[in-house]
Amino acid sequence: MIYKVISKSEFTAFIDAIVKANNAYGPRRVDSDRNGEPIYKFMPVASADEIAFDYTATHFSAKQFFLPFREELSHFSFDEQDNWEQHIRYEAPPTLLFGLRPCDISAVNILDDVMLRGPYPSPYYLARRRNTFIIGMDHLPLPDCFCKSMNRHTVSHGFNLFCSDIGDSYYLSINSSKAFTFLKEFELRNPTPEDDCLLIERRKLIKQSFLTNIEVTGLPLFLDIEFDSPIWEKWGDKCLNCGTCAMVCPTCYCYSVEENFDIDLKGSSRHNRLYSCNLVDFAEVAGGHNFRPRNGDRLKYRYYHHYRGFSANDNQQICVGCNRCGRACLAGINPKDVINDLRLERETCKTGDSPSPNRT
Ligand code: SF4
Ligand code: SF4
Repeated sequence: MIYKVISKSEFTAFIDAIVKANNAYGPRRVDSDRNGEPIYKFMPVASADEIAFDYTATHFSAKQFFLPFREELSHFSFDEQDNWEQHIRYEAPPTLLFGLRPCDISAVNILDDVMLRGPYPSPYYLARRRNTFIIGMDHLPLPDCFCKSMNRHTVSHGFNLFCSDIGDSYYLSINSSKAFTFLKEFELRNPTPEDDCLLIERRKLIKQSFLTNIEVTGLPLFLDIEFDSPIWEKWGDKCLNCGTCAMVCPTCYCYSVEENFDIDLKGSSRHNRLYSCNLVDFAEVAGGHNFRPRNGDRLKYRYYHHYRGFSANDNQQICVGCNRCGRACLAGINPKDVINDLRLERETCKTGDSPSPNRT
């Protein structure tokens, strides 16, 4: 890693040049929510003017650039003699993503573990990941962000360039030769001891600004104990089975595979489509048997995937604490309330004062 400092005006000139020369995406305001708060989305940008440098958080994560909602895996064609050919493309155009937060970059690192380091690495994901240049930016957390609890409020890898706001300048962490080459034409300086102090102060401020905290110490074991808790049914009864939480989540990656035949039967294509474990038919098998017929069971498994399963297999939890799922859920279901409810039940059970429903 190489560290440099760049003035904000020079940084804007750098971003303007780099987005003009590339297939670039950055945060843009696209609408307002019902409270009048801005809604931001990663959208194509052609100049620095189009980027919302002061954005808070995007409703959708950057997952869409690596795991699109729907993608073609292969295409088959058949000729008159019944010979067939399979066509597979792994190509991905070079793409620049600007403005990812530390938790967003952590989420991409988690997807790397899943999609590239498992027994069946995905060439589709690899093509996109290799061809994507990531510029990260720090920010002060929203009141409901809890990435500090998940230890994802800082990030040290997975990006090409990371920018920390230190007042009139940005403190740059340069993590690739490509980023260094791009920056060569712009005015940079080595950090002074004062810059280092400003960076430390900035990090302290970010850390102290979190208003939402979740106690995750020992959570995997805790979830084991709470497998049959009535809390799952209580929250599951609210769930609308819409799957929105998984769509906005930067680390939900479950998908289904479907085949589509051309109407003249001379070709077919195989697609995958992102799916959600909260959808009613997620665990349905041939014959109509559903292994998770109840809302509470499906909700529980989403939480176990995020906070339990991966810690056993990979020594990490895959929730990065962005709270996109909590913001998007129309039923008001969010990780903080569900986990705190589970903890509350356990902590009060000794006194017999549990506010939870009976276990019948
Ligand atoms: S967004 Fe909320 S209501 Fe929809 S599936 Fe997820 S938890 Fe259920
Ligand atoms: S589970 Fe919710 S809070 Fe955690 S990473 Fe996914 S969207 Fe963010």
